[in-house]
Amino acid sequence: MYVINSSLTAPTTEALLPCLPGVIFQLDRSPDGTLRFTYLEGDRDILDHLDRAALTDSANEAIAQLTGEHWPMVSAAIERSARWLVPLATRFRLCHPSRKAYWIGVSASPVRADDGVRFNGMMMNITGQVVNEQRLEKRCHTDVLTGLPNRRKLMLELNRLSMVSEQDSTPFSIMMIDVDHFKRFNDRFGHAYGDEILRALAERTRALLRDSDMLARLGGEEFVAVAPRTTLGHCYRVAERVRDSIAKLDLGAGTGEVTISIGVAEYRSQEILATLLKRADKALYRAKDTGRDCVYSIQ
Ligand code: GH3
Ligand code: MG
Ligand code: MG
Repeated sequence: MYVINSSLTAPTTEALLPCLPGVIFQLDRSPDGTLRFTYLEGDRDILDHLDRAALTDSANEAIAQLTGEHWPMVSAAIERSARWLVPLATRFRLCHPSRKAYWIGVSASPVRADDGVRFNGMMMNITGQVVNEQRLEKRCHTDVLTGLPNRRKLMLELNRLSMVSEQDSTPFSIMMIDVDHFKRFNDRFGHAYGDEILRALAERTRALLRDSDMLARLGGEEFVAVAPRTTLGHCYRVAERVRDSIAKLDLGAGTGEVTISIGVAEYRSQEILATLLKRADKALYRAKDTGRDCVYSIQ
């Protein structure tokens, strides 16, 4: 147990600063956008990896180097904060050759100074927090049974691809995949065995697709494959190859016992994603009506 001895003398600021679990700073932004750290003290573990001379001079290039791929985001956050005098809150991964992943969180308050803006703030090592967030996000986007991306992640990817498609006029298509007569497997072999089949099917189907494609589990025995930069005709041929391969495999119930039907649709400009999924679903039902173990596409 620690007992705080009030008779101890209060530490000097110089003694205290290197013991802080972060860095406190003053950053000046002149009207032409030049940044200069006019004060930078605290955690030696962070500071010993920084070129202080470069940061106190014209710091833009040094900050860009330290923040690497995050520089555009950090720079935009600084500019926004300076313009509207709203608190600065951003984060970046410290780019330093001798360090591995090292996340820094930045918090600062802007005030008008002379004809520029001065930020008073701190930087903290938030690596543990970021790793936890990433772990939680992964869990939130992963289907527990198969380890594939789940519906939430699928919708994010479709959203991203629709924006890319609108910007670059590139096509993308989706396959709605459903296991044929899956209820019979559960009835015949039990639910746990059905789970094994779903796992094996997910793994084999994933292996049949390109790295840039996403295979997600929509729910139950339904999956969606997303194929970037792929037209309807091209996607139909890929779907046919996947269907054929699965029909020839033994996923644990005997060769040819597990078959799939696939509905294919291509994204239309300005289309809402629910409509795209509905069109693929409609194509899937046509495939089921046609006798299963087949592919159907809708223009
Ligand atoms: P169809 O060819 O028309 O698609 O027939 P089906 O039997 O595959 O379709 P139906 O929708 O009637 O049944 C789907 C079955 O999938 C019913 C449900 O018990 C089973 N199922 C859904 N999710 C899971 C799961 O996570 N594990 C297992 N083992 N079975 C599941
Ligand atoms: Mg089914
Ligand atoms: Mg189904």
